[in-house]
Amino acid sequence: MDRYDYIIIGAGSAGCVLANRLSADLKTRVLLLEAGGKDNSVLVRMPAGAGSLLKEKNAYNWGFWTEPEANLDGRKLWWPRGKGWGGSSSINGMIYIRGHARDYDQWSQMGLRGWSYAEVLPYFKKSETFEGGGDAYHGADGPLHVSKAASKNPIYSSFVAAGAQAGHKTTGDFNGFQQEGFGPYQLTIRDGQRWSASAGYLHPILGQRPNLVAEVEARTSRIIIENGRAVGVEFLQGKGRVKRTVYADAEVLLCAGAVQSPQILQLSGIGDPDDLEPVGVPVVHALKGVGKNLQDHLDMTLSWETPGVQSAYSFNKGLNRLVTGLNYMLRGQGPGRQNFLEAGAFLKSRPDLDRPDLQLHCVMAIMQNHGNTLVEKDGFTVHVCQLRPESRGRVGLRSADPFDDPAIHANYLATEEDRRALREGVKITRNLADQAALKAIIGEELFPGPSVKTDADIDAWIKRGAETIYHPVGTCRMGQAGDAMAVVDDQLKVIGVEGLRVVDASVMPTLVGGNTNAPTIMVAEKAADMILGRAAMPADDAPVFGDDLVAA
Ligand SMILES: Cc1cc2nc3c(=O)[nH]c(=O)nc-3n(C[C@H](O)[C@H](O)[C@H](O)COP(=O)(O)OP(=O)(O)OC[C@H]3O[C@@H](n4cnc5c(N)ncnc54)[C@H](O)[C@@H]3O)c2cc1C
Repeated sequence: MDRYDYIIIGAGSAGCVLANRLSADLKTRVLLLEAGGKDNSVLVRMPAGAGSLLKEKNAYNWGFWTEPEANLDGRKLWWPRGKGWGGSSSINGMIYIRGHARDYDQWSQMGLRGWSYAEVLPYFKKSETFEGGGDAYHGADGPLHVSKAASKNPIYSSFVAAGAQAGHKTTGDFNGFQQEGFGPYQLTIRDGQRWSASAGYLHPILGQRPNLVAEVEARTSRIIIENGRAVGVEFLQGKGRVKRTVYADAEVLLCAGAVQSPQILQLSGIGDPDDLEPVGVPVVHALKGVGKNLQDHLDMTLSWETPGVQSAYSFNKGLNRLVTGLNYMLRGQGPGRQNFLEAGAFLKSRPDLDRPDLQLHCVMAIMQNHGNTLVEKDGFTVHVCQLRPESRGRVGLRSADPFDDPAIHANYLATEEDRRALREGVKITRNLADQAALKAIIGEELFPGPSVKTDADIDAWIKRGAETIYHPVGTCRMGQAGDAMAVVDDQLKVIGVEGLRVVDASVMPTLVGGNTNAPTIMVAEKAADMILGRAAMPADDAPVFGDDLVAA
């Protein structure tokens, strides 16, 4: 069969949601195209496997590099992106965070109808089954299982206690009423297994719905546009790169993520003519914003040793690695069940901000350079990132060859505010180590270490050491009619092309204050209603979310 109602390109966080929701009516024919393979490795299933998947190019990781970054000593930065069923949700850190309510209200204030916090909250809840049960903020029967942090390791409790001792707020639920403060993370883990978008949305329906066809190793090379309408997709399959053409009677839905959705539009001739002509792609539809507006969370990692407290290093050293692996595979028990990242914080780098602009991740391992710097010690790392960078980058084609990696210009730290916020974040994080709760368990500060003292030292260290924390968005951003740089409208329809929507992290106009998996799944849940022509879920009347209201 080569005709479907819907063709979904990319089986990642968003694509899996659409595959499920659109194929629920057995009369609707749905094709899901994924460039990678199935997600059947134990390293995907076992939460502790994330560390090895993200640090190198492999069957589950595209392993991109940026172009040289002007403000980071000209370094090229490592950009892992998920490949295969589940996409990035199959290699991610499993942190479940939605962002701040005001992030969505800001989208609504930009004129994007239907995207305020009250209007997106029902979709977050629809997607979720929360271990703690349903309430005003959490869902109780959605496909995405969300558990509470379970580890009793003292690194996490000392980290949260140190935050309180340093004068910061604490919070029990970053996704509830109060985001700001130190507290435990919620995790997309169920019974010790990674709960990716494919675990939640795709596996339960595979083989159950004859109207859903899921092709793997199917690399989309082009969306076919005829008379201003997306009518089909060309893809190259398997090692032999066999060319196949399929047709969509209703819509083509592009869900290839913030790096590859703009790449596929550009390969199809949809983009800025100034970008397409130099690489020899004929312009089918001029749309200047494609690939522009790239935003990402840039991250610094501070590490301390914990001489008397075991961390991931102890569970992995020598024969313990084998024991941990066998214990997990044979009994489903042991440290393999953990993502080693169970506490964090949302903080303001300046008191006058209306929401936190810094996020901390407390990792129970000495994790430098995506885990590629080996330090044979027990210890922990605090990642600090700035949540709403002003800097904007872009993704473009290197050539017209669909197998060429796209050129990623992240353009980090292009503004003084971005440099200030990250510097401040480093100082706030360092101050935690002076608090009694952490002093009791830490030894030496390993990174950045004692030679980094002044602001100028910190700035130089940031240039040498900053890395992504993996949240690119914005490259096919939503916008209102008349906005020359918008790629999709608030219904996620590509502006000026019929029958084509983008549904993934790339449509977010601005980065939300937090990790991006749950927001992407929310976008796709909302998109499913739009695509099927159903009314949006009614806005939620949960208490207004706002950190500043907590004190009142
Ligand atoms: C290492 C890492 C850690 C992260 N940690 C967290 C975390 O702890 N919590 C969190 O909330 N977020 C985290 N994120 C971010 C989050 O996972 C992503 O924002 C989210 O998964 C993006 O979803 P998406 O649908 O936009 O894209 P993806 O999930 O990346 O899906 C895109 C899919 O399209 C496929 N594709 C690409 N090109 C083609 C093509 N030409 N043809 C066919 N298919 C194609 C890809 O193979 C992929 O499967 C992390 C990301 C990474 C990479």
